[in-house]
Amino acid sequence: MKAVDGFSGAIGNTPLIRLSKLSAHVGRDIFGKAEHLNPGGSVKDRAALGIIEDFERRGLLKADGIVVEGTAGNTGIGLTLVGNARGYRTIIVMPDDQAPEKYELLRTFGADLRVVEAAPFTNDANYYHAARRIAESIPGAVWANQFENTVNRDTHERTTGPEIVAQMDGKLDAFVAAAGTGGTLAGTGRALKAHDPKIQVVLCDPYGSALYNYVKHGKLEAEGDSNAEGIGIKRLTANFTGAPVDDAVRVDDRTMVEMAHWLLRETGLFVGGSAALNVAGAARYAATLPAGSRVVTVLCDGGDRYRSRIYNAAWLKENDVVPQAKDLSFL
Ligand code: PMP
Repeated sequence: MKAVDGFSGAIGNTPLIRLSKLSAHVGRDIFGKAEHLNPGGSVKDRAALGIIEDFERRGLLKADGIVVEGTAGNTGIGLTLVGNARGYRTIIVMPDDQAPEKYELLRTFGADLRVVEAAPFTNDANYYHAARRIAESIPGAVWANQFENTVNRDTHERTTGPEIVAQMDGKLDAFVAAAGTGGTLAGTGRALKAHDPKIQVVLCDPYGSALYNYVKHGKLEAEGDSNAEGIGIKRLTANFTGAPVDDAVRVDDRTMVEMAHWLLRETGLFVGGSAALNVAGAARYAATLPAGSRVVTVLCDGGDRYRSRIYNAAWLKENDVVPQAKDLSFL
Protein backbone atom coordinates (compact mmCIF):
# COMPACT_ATOMS: atom_id res chain seq x y z
CA MET A 1 0.00 0.00 0.00
CA LYS A 2 1.23 3.49 -0.92
CA ALA A 3 1.33 6.43 1.50
CA VAL A 4 -1.85 8.52 1.64
CA ASP A 5 -2.40 12.18 2.30
CA GLY A 6 -3.61 13.05 5.81
CA PHE A 7 -6.71 11.90 7.69
CA SER A 8 -8.98 12.16 4.66
CA GLY A 9 -6.60 10.11 2.54
CA ALA A 10 -6.72 7.32 5.11
CA ILE A 11 -10.50 6.93 4.74
CA GLY A 12 -11.65 3.95 2.68
CA ASN A 13 -9.68 1.16 1.02
CA THR A 14 -10.44 -0.95 4.07
CA PRO A 15 -9.58 -4.66 4.15
CA LEU A 16 -12.18 -7.24 3.14
CA ILE A 17 -11.95 -10.05 5.68
CA ARG A 18 -13.02 -13.59 4.86
CA LEU A 19 -14.68 -14.94 8.00
CA SER A 20 -13.19 -18.40 7.69
CA LYS A 21 -14.74 -20.16 10.72
CA LEU A 22 -18.18 -18.78 9.94
CA SER A 23 -17.78 -19.67 6.25
CA ALA A 24 -16.86 -23.26 7.14
CA HIS A 25 -19.93 -23.51 9.38
CA VAL A 26 -22.34 -22.14 6.76
CA GLY A 27 -20.72 -23.79 3.73
CA ARG A 28 -20.73 -20.45 1.91
CA ASP A 29 -18.01 -17.81 1.84
CA ILE A 30 -18.82 -14.82 4.03
CA PHE A 31 -16.73 -11.66 3.95
CA GLY A 32 -16.79 -8.56 6.17
CA LYS A 33 -15.77 -5.15 4.82
CA ALA A 34 -13.72 -3.84 7.73
CA GLU A 35 -15.13 -0.33 7.97
CA HIS A 36 -14.23 -0.19 11.67
CA LEU A 37 -10.63 0.24 10.47
CA ASN A 38 -11.36 3.66 8.98
CA PRO A 39 -9.36 6.38 10.83
CA GLY A 40 -12.49 7.64 12.64
CA GLY A 41 -13.50 4.08 13.44
CA SER A 42 -16.64 3.64 11.35
CA VAL A 43 -18.25 3.34 7.93
CA LYS A 44 -19.52 6.91 8.37
CA ASP A 45 -16.06 8.40 7.78
CA ARG A 46 -16.74 7.89 4.07
CA ALA A 47 -20.03 9.80 4.06
CA ALA A 48 -18.58 12.54 6.30
CA LEU A 49 -15.68 13.12 3.91
CA GLY A 50 -17.91 12.96 0.84
CA ILE A 51 -20.39 15.47 2.27
CA ILE A 52 -17.66 17.93 3.37
CA GLU A 53 -15.91 17.69 -0.01
CA ASP A 54 -19.23 18.39 -1.73
CA PHE A 55 -19.79 21.53 0.40
CA GLU A 56 -16.25 22.66 -0.45
CA ARG A 57 -16.79 22.10 -4.16
CA ARG A 58 -19.98 24.13 -4.04
CA GLY A 59 -18.21 26.94 -2.12
CA LEU A 60 -20.46 26.54 0.92
CA LEU A 61 -17.68 25.89 3.43
CA LYS A 62 -15.05 28.55 4.04
CA ALA A 63 -12.13 28.52 6.50
CA ASP A 64 -13.49 28.23 10.07
CA GLY A 65 -16.86 27.16 8.66
CA ILE A 66 -19.35 25.30 10.83
CA VAL A 67 -20.83 21.90 9.99
CA VAL A 68 -23.97 20.91 11.90
CA GLU A 69 -25.33 17.37 12.05
CA GLY A 70 -27.82 15.23 13.90
CA THR A 71 -26.39 11.75 14.40
CA ALA A 72 -26.40 8.57 16.45
CA GLY A 73 -22.69 9.35 16.87
CA ASN A 74 -20.57 7.91 14.09
CA THR A 75 -21.33 10.53 11.44
CA GLY A 76 -20.62 13.20 14.04
CA ILE A 77 -17.28 11.58 14.82
CA GLY A 78 -16.37 11.41 11.12
CA LEU A 79 -17.42 15.02 10.46
CA THR A 80 -15.54 16.30 13.52
CA LEU A 81 -12.28 14.54 12.62
CA VAL A 82 -12.45 15.49 8.93
CA GLY A 83 -13.32 19.01 10.16
CA ASN A 84 -10.30 19.09 12.46
CA ALA A 85 -8.08 18.13 9.56
CA ARG A 86 -9.50 20.85 7.31
CA GLY A 87 -10.19 23.69 9.73
CA TYR A 88 -13.95 23.42 10.27
CA ARG A 89 -15.87 23.33 13.54
CA THR A 90 -18.75 20.96 14.19
CA ILE A 91 -21.97 21.21 16.17
CA ILE A 92 -23.18 17.67 16.75
CA VAL A 93 -26.70 16.90 17.96
CA MET A 94 -27.30 13.46 19.48
CA PRO A 95 -30.24 11.78 21.18
CA ASP A 96 -29.55 10.88 24.82
CA ASP A 97 -29.94 7.11 24.44
CA GLN A 98 -26.71 6.13 22.67
CA ALA A 99 -23.58 4.47 24.12
CA PRO A 100 -21.79 6.89 26.50
CA GLU A 101 -18.49 6.21 24.74
CA LYS A 102 -19.69 8.13 21.66
CA TYR A 103 -20.45 11.32 23.63
CA GLU A 104 -17.04 11.07 25.33
CA LEU A 105 -15.25 10.65 22.00
CA LEU A 106 -17.06 13.61 20.43
CA ARG A 107 -16.19 15.87 23.38
CA THR A 108 -12.57 14.68 23.28
CA PHE A 109 -12.39 15.37 19.55
CA GLY A 110 -13.58 18.95 20.09
CA ALA A 111 -17.15 18.85 18.78
CA ASP A 112 -19.69 21.26 20.23
CA LEU A 113 -21.95 18.42 21.40
CA ARG A 114 -25.64 19.08 22.02
CA VAL A 115 -27.51 16.17 23.60
CA VAL A 116 -31.30 16.20 23.23
CA GLU A 117 -33.96 13.94 24.65
CA ALA A 118 -34.59 10.91 22.44
CA ALA A 119 -37.91 11.51 20.65
CA PRO A 120 -39.71 10.03 17.63
CA PHE A 121 -39.07 11.65 14.25
CA THR A 122 -42.63 12.98 14.21
CA ASN A 123 -41.78 15.04 17.32
CA ASP A 124 -40.14 18.38 16.62
CA ALA A 125 -37.69 17.77 19.48
CA ASN A 126 -36.12 14.83 17.57
CA TYR A 127 -32.35 15.30 17.06
CA TYR A 128 -32.75 15.51 13.28
CA HIS A 129 -35.05 18.54 13.49
CA ALA A 130 -32.95 20.06 16.30
CA ALA A 131 -29.86 19.93 14.06
CA ARG A 132 -31.71 21.56 11.17
CA ARG A 133 -32.92 24.41 13.42
CA ILE A 134 -29.40 25.01 14.77
CA ALA A 135 -27.93 25.11 11.25
CA GLU A 136 -30.64 27.53 10.11
CA SER A 137 -29.97 29.82 13.09
CA ILE A 138 -26.23 30.25 12.35
CA PRO A 139 -25.39 32.34 9.26
CA GLY A 140 -23.01 30.44 6.98
CA ALA A 141 -23.34 27.13 8.82
CA VAL A 142 -24.05 24.03 6.72
CA TRP A 143 -26.29 21.09 7.68
CA ALA A 144 -24.82 17.76 6.57
CA ASN A 145 -28.28 16.10 6.56
CA GLN A 146 -26.95 12.57 6.05
CA PHE A 147 -30.48 11.12 5.76
CA GLU A 148 -31.65 13.19 2.78
CA ASN A 149 -28.33 14.31 1.31
CA THR A 150 -27.62 11.70 -1.36
CA VAL A 151 -23.93 12.63 -1.52
CA ASN A 152 -23.86 10.05 1.32
CA ARG A 153 -25.08 7.31 -1.03
CA ASP A 154 -22.97 8.56 -3.95
CA THR A 155 -19.81 8.30 -1.84
CA HIS A 156 -20.45 4.59 -1.26
CA GLU A 157 -21.28 4.11 -4.94
CA ARG A 158 -17.94 5.68 -5.83
CA THR A 159 -15.77 4.02 -3.16
CA THR A 160 -17.18 1.11 -1.11
CA GLY A 161 -18.86 -0.66 -4.03
CA PRO A 162 -15.91 -0.62 -6.45
CA GLU A 163 -13.53 -1.63 -3.64
CA ILE A 164 -15.67 -4.72 -2.93
CA VAL A 165 -15.86 -5.61 -6.64
CA ALA A 166 -12.06 -5.41 -6.90
CA GLN A 167 -11.44 -7.30 -3.64
CA MET A 168 -13.84 -10.10 -4.70
CA ASP A 169 -12.30 -10.30 -8.19
CA GLY A 170 -15.73 -9.31 -9.46
CA LYS A 171 -17.32 -12.51 -8.17
CA LEU A 172 -19.98 -12.31 -5.47
CA ASP A 173 -23.57 -13.44 -5.09
CA ALA A 174 -25.00 -11.15 -2.43
CA PHE A 175 -24.42 -8.04 -0.36
CA VAL A 176 -26.16 -7.85 3.02
CA ALA A 177 -26.26 -4.65 5.09
CA ALA A 178 -28.29 -2.80 7.68
CA ALA A 179 -29.52 0.74 7.04
CA GLY A 180 -29.29 3.81 9.26
CA THR A 181 -29.56 6.44 6.57
CA GLY A 182 -29.45 3.78 3.84
CA GLY A 183 -26.34 5.34 2.33
CA THR A 184 -24.15 2.23 2.63
CA LEU A 185 -26.84 -0.16 1.34
CA ALA A 186 -27.97 2.06 -1.53
CA GLY A 187 -24.60 3.28 -2.76
CA THR A 188 -22.78 -0.02 -2.46
CA GLY A 189 -25.82 -1.85 -3.84
CA ARG A 190 -25.95 0.39 -6.90
CA ALA A 191 -22.27 -0.11 -7.67
CA LEU A 192 -22.59 -3.89 -7.27
CA LYS A 193 -25.70 -4.04 -9.48
CA ALA A 194 -23.92 -1.97 -12.14
CA HIS A 195 -21.10 -4.51 -12.07
CA ASP A 196 -23.41 -7.55 -12.14
CA PRO A 197 -27.21 -7.23 -11.91
CA LYS A 198 -27.43 -10.80 -10.56
CA ILE A 199 -25.81 -9.78 -7.25
CA GLN A 200 -28.57 -9.82 -4.62
CA VAL A 201 -28.77 -6.69 -2.45
CA VAL A 202 -30.29 -7.58 0.90
CA LEU A 203 -31.35 -5.35 3.79
CA CYS A 204 -30.51 -6.64 7.27
CA ASP A 205 -32.92 -4.97 9.66
CA PRO A 206 -33.19 -4.92 13.46
CA TYR A 207 -36.58 -5.11 15.20
CA GLY A 208 -38.14 -1.71 15.82
CA SER A 209 -37.37 -0.66 12.25
CA ALA A 210 -40.04 -0.35 9.57
CA LEU A 211 -37.81 -1.16 6.60
CA TYR A 212 -38.03 -4.97 6.78
CA ASN A 213 -41.80 -4.88 6.28
CA TYR A 214 -41.40 -2.23 3.59
CA VAL A 215 -39.07 -4.44 1.55
CA LYS A 216 -41.05 -7.64 2.22
CA HIS A 217 -44.63 -6.34 2.02
CA GLY A 218 -44.48 -2.74 0.77
CA LYS A 219 -45.68 -1.40 4.14
CA LEU A 220 -43.66 0.84 6.47
CA GLU A 221 -44.48 -1.00 9.68
CA ALA A 222 -42.29 -1.51 12.73
CA GLU A 223 -42.57 -4.45 15.11
CA GLY A 224 -40.75 -5.03 18.39
CA ASP A 225 -37.74 -3.13 19.60
CA SER A 226 -33.94 -3.14 19.51
CA ASN A 227 -30.94 -1.68 21.26
CA ALA A 228 -28.90 -1.68 18.03
CA GLU A 229 -27.36 1.76 17.52
CA GLY A 230 -27.10 3.69 14.25
CA ILE A 231 -29.45 1.41 12.31
CA GLY A 232 -33.15 0.83 11.86
CA ILE A 233 -35.51 3.54 10.74
CA LYS A 234 -39.26 4.06 10.54
CA ARG A 235 -39.39 6.33 7.49
CA LEU A 236 -38.10 6.33 3.92
CA THR A 237 -35.05 8.53 3.43
CA ALA A 238 -33.78 9.82 0.10
CA ASN A 239 -30.70 7.66 0.55
CA PHE A 240 -32.65 4.46 1.23
CA THR A 241 -35.12 5.15 -1.58
CA GLY A 242 -32.29 4.84 -4.09
CA ALA A 243 -31.34 1.35 -2.92
CA PRO A 244 -31.85 -1.52 -5.39
CA VAL A 245 -33.03 -3.92 -2.66
CA ASP A 246 -34.00 -7.48 -3.60
CA ASP A 247 -34.77 -8.96 -0.22
CA ALA A 248 -34.61 -8.44 3.54
CA VAL A 249 -33.68 -10.42 6.64
CA ARG A 250 -34.46 -9.50 10.23
CA VAL A 251 -32.20 -10.26 13.17
CA ASP A 252 -33.09 -9.91 16.86
CA ASP A 253 -30.90 -8.41 19.57
CA ARG A 254 -30.13 -11.75 21.22
CA THR A 255 -28.65 -13.05 17.96
CA MET A 256 -26.76 -9.77 17.47
CA VAL A 257 -25.18 -10.03 20.91
CA GLU A 258 -24.39 -13.74 20.53
CA MET A 259 -22.66 -12.98 17.22
CA ALA A 260 -20.72 -10.02 18.63
CA HIS A 261 -19.33 -12.18 21.43
CA TRP A 262 -18.71 -15.16 19.13
CA LEU A 263 -16.77 -12.96 16.69
CA LEU A 264 -14.61 -11.61 19.49
CA ARG A 265 -14.05 -14.93 21.25
CA GLU A 266 -13.61 -17.15 18.19
CA THR A 267 -12.18 -14.83 15.55
CA GLY A 268 -10.56 -11.91 17.39
CA LEU A 269 -12.80 -9.39 15.64
CA PHE A 270 -14.09 -6.74 18.09
CA VAL A 271 -17.05 -5.02 16.42
CA GLY A 272 -20.19 -3.08 17.31
CA GLY A 273 -23.77 -4.33 17.37
CA SER A 274 -24.72 -3.35 13.82
CA ALA A 275 -21.66 -5.16 12.46
CA ALA A 276 -22.58 -8.29 14.43
CA LEU A 277 -26.18 -8.02 13.23
CA ASN A 278 -24.91 -7.76 9.65
CA VAL A 279 -22.71 -10.84 10.03
CA ALA A 280 -25.61 -12.86 11.48
CA GLY A 281 -27.91 -11.67 8.69
CA ALA A 282 -25.30 -12.44 6.05
CA ALA A 283 -24.81 -15.96 7.43
CA ARG A 284 -28.56 -16.64 7.50
CA TYR A 285 -29.10 -15.27 4.01
CA ALA A 286 -26.05 -17.15 2.69
CA ALA A 287 -27.56 -20.40 4.02
CA THR A 288 -30.49 -19.91 1.58
CA LEU A 289 -28.09 -19.71 -1.39
CA PRO A 290 -26.36 -22.64 -3.15
CA ALA A 291 -23.30 -24.12 -1.40
CA GLY A 292 -20.14 -22.17 -2.22
CA SER A 293 -21.96 -18.84 -2.72
CA ARG A 294 -20.05 -15.66 -1.81
CA VAL A 295 -21.69 -13.08 0.43
CA VAL A 296 -20.27 -9.73 1.55
CA THR A 297 -21.40 -7.69 4.55
CA VAL A 298 -20.19 -4.63 6.45
CA LEU A 299 -18.35 -4.36 9.78
CA CYS A 300 -19.74 -0.86 10.44
CA ASP A 301 -17.78 0.08 13.55
CA GLY A 302 -15.62 -1.35 16.30
CA GLY A 303 -16.57 -2.78 19.68
CA ASP A 304 -14.63 -0.21 21.66
CA ARG A 305 -17.47 2.31 21.57
CA TYR A 306 -19.88 -0.25 23.10
CA ARG A 307 -17.77 -1.43 26.04
CA SER A 308 -20.43 -0.13 28.44
CA ARG A 309 -23.24 -1.84 26.51
CA ILE A 310 -23.06 -5.11 24.56
CA TYR A 311 -19.64 -5.85 26.10
CA ASN A 312 -20.71 -4.99 29.65
CA ALA A 313 -21.96 -7.82 31.88
CA ALA A 314 -24.38 -5.64 33.88
CA TRP A 315 -25.91 -4.08 30.76
CA LEU A 316 -26.33 -7.49 29.12
CA LYS A 317 -28.12 -8.79 32.21
CA GLU A 318 -30.33 -5.72 32.49
CA ASN A 319 -31.37 -6.11 28.85
CA ASP A 320 -31.81 -9.86 29.15
CA VAL A 321 -29.34 -10.65 26.37
CA VAL A 322 -26.53 -12.40 28.25
CA PRO A 323 -24.76 -14.50 25.58
CA GLN A 324 -25.20 -18.23 26.21
CA ALA A 325 -24.01 -20.01 23.07
CA LYS A 326 -20.71 -21.89 22.97
CA ASP A 327 -20.89 -22.27 19.20
CA LEU A 328 -22.92 -20.96 16.25
CA SER A 329 -26.08 -22.85 17.23
CA PHE A 330 -27.89 -19.50 17.68
CA LEU A 331 -27.79 -18.97 13.92
N1 PMP B 1 -23.87 1.00 11.93
C1 PMP B 1 -23.60 2.04 12.72
C2 PMP B 1 -22.97 1.79 14.05
C3 PMP B 1 -23.88 3.35 12.29
O1 PMP B 1 -23.61 4.39 13.09
C4 PMP B 1 -24.49 3.54 11.04
C5 PMP B 1 -24.80 4.93 10.56
N2 PMP B 1 -25.90 5.53 11.19
C6 PMP B 1 -24.80 2.42 10.25
C7 PMP B 1 -24.46 1.16 10.73
C8 PMP B 1 -25.57 2.50 8.95
O2 PMP B 1 -24.98 3.20 7.94
P1 PMP B 1 -25.82 4.01 6.87
O3 PMP B 1 -26.12 5.35 7.48
O4 PMP B 1 -24.90 4.14 5.71
O5 PMP B 1 -27.08 3.29 6.54
